[in-house]
Amino acid sequence: MSFSAWFQCISGCDGRWPLDEVRYRCPRCNDLLEVVHDRDALLARPPAAWRALFDERWRATRHPDTSGVWGKRELVAPHVREEHIVTAAEGASALLPVPGLAAELGIEEVRVKQCGVSHTGSFKDLGMTVLVSTVKQMIADGKRIAAIACASTGDTSAALAAYGAAAGVRTVVILPRGKISTAQLVQPLANGALVLALDTDFDGCMAIVQELAEREGVYLANSMNSLRLEGQKTVAMEIVQQLGWELPDWVVIPGGNLGNVSALGAGFQMLIDLGLITRSPRICVAQAANASPLHAAFLRGFDSFESVPAKATLASAIQIGNPVSWKKAVRAIQRADGVVEAASEAELADAAARADRFGLFTCPHTGVALAALEKLVAGGQVRRHDRVVVVSTASGLKFADFKVGYHEHRLADVPSPRWRNQPVELAAKYDDVRSALWRGLQDAGPAA
Ligand SMILES: *Cc1c(COP(=O)(O)O)cnc(C)c1O
Ligand SMILES: [Zn+2]
Repeated sequence: MSFSAWFQCISGCDGRWPLDEVRYRCPRCNDLLEVVHDRDALLARPPAAWRALFDERWRATRHPDTSGVWGKRELVAPHVREEHIVTAAEGASALLPVPGLAAELGIEEVRVKQCGVSHTGSFKDLGMTVLVSTVKQMIADGKRIAAIACASTGDTSAALAAYGAAAGVRTVVILPRGKISTAQLVQPLANGALVLALDTDFDGCMAIVQELAEREGVYLANSMNSLRLEGQKTVAMEIVQQLGWELPDWVVIPGGNLGNVSALGAGFQMLIDLGLITRSPRICVAQAANASPLHAAFLRGFDSFESVPAKATLASAIQIGNPVSWKKAVRAIQRADGVVEAASEAELADAAARADRFGLFTCPHTGVALAALEKLVAGGQVRRHDRVVVVSTASGLKFADFKVGYHEHRLADVPSPRWRNQPVELAAKYDDVRSALWRGLQDAGPAA
């Protein structure tokens, strides 16, 4: 069987472009592109055969089935020849049941899709493996690409630098000087990326990287590049597969640039197209209230979309006021009978800390999704018997300042951290320790 896919304009302009052509936007209307697959070829294999194939490849030891993304390669990137696949065994992440949290929320089932348990610590790996593999093949085919570049401060640059280094392709990270901590940058620095710190803000960096892409033959890895969404799409497919090819009732996902929710929607849609499921679960996009243009648009019934100035939020990866993928996201939400919620700084921090009491170690963005879930339960949209999946986007280990700041009561916007936990300091005297032990164990434990 042979499969194929191409770029197409999301606004419906005529034209198809090959996926190994350097192209980020529609040449006619400048709107975003999306990857469209040859459905007839995919439909030639019946649903039961697809299920069996994907189950057989799940977490297999042979290349490239070690990767959850490449285990579904026909639905993701049929243009990449196997020898060019650059993978770090991304995807196939756990769908962890958190029964204690579900019980506390008063609902039947909550599972966390652990997309942050990944090579560079965030779901960005799922898309970057597709983008970097494509570029590696383009270079092998004789295309002249000097480097892959992005303007990003966090998880995108970490993923780009790691996959680029593994592929032997140079990477460039462009960021606003003095606004980024070394901790946020240590992954691209360690992986040998060329890091250019400019005297401007994030939008200024974005403008320059786009000009470099146009004039210098540098390949752009920012999220208007729709190849990344093809890899991220597998999150939807994995959730269904891990539930025994059954649907959850709700999927809650944090959103910033809105690529990830667009990918989630595209993943469910593709499963519907192939007859693997009959409908989509409902989707809730969770935004930080400080940067919530999609939430505002949702409250207006999506009759218009307006960008907003993004205020600072602990959920730094979603501090975005002008999301690139808003059109795709609105389409995904409308198809999924979806909703949008927003969480304050205190809500997101408490929700993250609360989930940690059940054994997780959640990043602030996952905290936004968990806070949104609490609101859906309180508002009666999520009902007692519903099965809910929360998409966790990064590892809490990447956000140590947030975690430490919470427990040390140092976060300005979190005046009374509800789940604060601190060491008990005392002399090395047995009796003192003994009374501290029994006093401490009387306090609310993890299951309280
Ligand atoms: C990129 C990112 C997001 C937001 O994803 P979008 O596709 O921009 O909506 C959320 N959480 C983390 C940890 C991220 O790195
Ligand atoms: Zn167009």
